[in-house]
Amino acid sequence: MIAENLKIVENKIAESCIKCGREKSEIRLIAVTKTQPIDVIKIALDGGVKNLGENKAQELRDKSELISGDFQWHFVGHLQSNKVKYVIKSADFIHAVDSIKLAEEINRRSGQLNKMQKILLEIKTSDEETKFGLQTEDEIFKLAEFCKNSSNLNLAGLMTMAPFTENESIIRISFRRSRNLMEKLNGNGYQLKELSMGMTNDYEIAIEEGSTMLRIGTAIFGDRIIN
Ligand SMILES: *Cc1c(COP(=O)(O)O)cnc(C)c1O
Repeated sequence: MIAENLKIVENKIAESCIKCGREKSEIRLIAVTKTQPIDVIKIALDGGVKNLGENKAQELRDKSELISGDFQWHFVGHLQSNKVKYVIKSADFIHAVDSIKLAEEINRRSGQLNKMQKILLEIKTSDEETKFGLQTEDEIFKLAEFCKNSSNLNLAGLMTMAPFTENESIIRISFRRSRNLMEKLNGNGYQLKELSMGMTNDYEIAIEEGSTMLRIGTAIFGDRIIN
């Protein structure tokens, strides 16, 4: 089932790319493996997945000790500073950086490992109270500047979560806000390339709005039993 689901998702990504004139190679599919056991993850890897995403720090640490291979780990969840130690060794990208305190700790721990850590800033583009992320342009520019001046941080792009709604135009506005912010940063001397946006329910819209990293769980693995 997972192999079939993967094919379906990949075909939809390809179709969306054709629809909006983008290259499939610009878009990274991150299989979000939270709550999935190792044997299930291995099926996805056998199916050609090259990027895995986790949203709990200890879960990433534990899984990264059990599997390795030709793929990259993405930490996509909200991260507390005191848990950076669990993800810093294995995470190729940390997606949801939303405070100077967190960026500082990631920089410090990366320095100890002699690592340039790729990170994305999480932008809050909806009014949902449960979502984390930076809200004002001032906050975003301040944190971007902090990252630029941190020797072990590589600011790769922005990440956002659209509100959970059926309303396509609300989702689109949310993604567009992220893209506009990235363009604004790039107009101010930054060189961000990545837009991490799009999940099971909205990834086709995200592709149309410029996403380069899709974080997809349910469409590949089915419904999660626990969350
Ligand atoms: C769980 C999760 C996803 C994947 O969600 P699906 O709707 O299952 O595709 C993406 N991003 C983050 C941050 C998540 O926690």
